[in-house]
Amino acid sequence: MKPLNQLIRPNILNLEPYTCARNEYTGEARAWLDANENSRIDGFNRYPDPLQIEVKTKLGAMRGVDVDRIFLGVGSDECVDITYRVFCRPGMDNVVAIEPTYGMYSVCAAINDVEYRNVRLRDDFSLDVEALFGAVDGNTKVIWICSPNNPTGNAFPMDVLREVASRFDGIVVVDEAYVDFSDAGSMVDVLDEYPNLIVMQTFSKAWASAALRLGIAFASREIISVFNNVKYPYNINILTQRQALSVLESADVIRKVVEELVAARGKLGERLSALECVRRVHPSDANFLLVEVTDAGALYEFLKSCGVIVRNRSRVALCGNCLRITVGTDEENDLLIEKMTEYGN
Ligand SMILES: *Cc1c(COP(=O)(O)O)cnc(C)c1O
Repeated sequence: MKPLNQLIRPNILNLEPYTCARNEYTGEARAWLDANENSRIDGFNRYPDPLQIEVKTKLGAMRGVDVDRIFLGVGSDECVDITYRVFCRPGMDNVVAIEPTYGMYSVCAAINDVEYRNVRLRDDFSLDVEALFGAVDGNTKVIWICSPNNPTGNAFPMDVLREVASRFDGIVVVDEAYVDFSDAGSMVDVLDEYPNLIVMQTFSKAWASAALRLGIAFASREIISVFNNVKYPYNINILTQRQALSVLESADVIRKVVEELVAARGKLGERLSALECVRRVHPSDANFLLVEVTDAGALYEFLKSCGVIVRNRSRVALCGNCLRITVGTDEENDLLIEKMTEYGN
């Protein structure tokens, strides 16, 4: 890995970060007269903890990561964006990502005026590491890998991800939004071995809290410290912090529901495979199935007319005639199968 100060944009490296009142003094006090809040009306009058220490303490204990190696963002969206803003010089640097993959990496690259390079997965959705490094040059700052990958649904083996992390001299991001639905393991467990590794997770999928907008980045202390200097001071509001604590309390329930979802995914896959209009159900390590059908456009429109909304991915590389279908409630899954049966072929 290149030294971090060669990877971080010079303006960010030289940044004199904003120090907010709640950063400058923490602890107990008899009178809070430092932040120009309205002390006469209780409820939401106080600024929230800018570093969300309570949430991170609980999350860190669960994932086995120290508090100062965790960043919380307004969804993974903020974690993705801040990675560009910290490492990629607009108009100069580039990033390398797999194709097909999650759309936010390329949108955020465009917004930040950073060149985005695609490397196609193999036809079986496996990762061609040589091709990946073929796209890398001296100005490549970040490699994006989503595992389990959206929309293909497969997780890449840990040894492949480790190879990418150890070979690349820049930043490797592994987006593990769907990791809880997979047996492939988490790169969080090997974070210590790779100072250039950022692992992203989210409250939006397994944790059933998409509405909260809470994303997580795990990385080295040094990277997290820079992220903290660059983010909006109070990015995670108090309602989100409180609700996140409460969600983390219900880890046992979540674990059980995730098990049920994984079982339901298997059952749904079998039922789909038996339908006339289905050519292939791709194996999935996530909470959705990528399903190749006879005519994705027509089937999508038919399902929509029945009030069943799926994602048409047929214009995405390697996903010709594919629909991406989230595993729903039993009732939703039954309705989907009923309507697809009705559709015929
Ligand atoms: C759904 C999803 C996310 C979650 O994004 P949030 O902003 O945290 O809701 C992140 N990455 C991938 C690949 C996803 O599919």
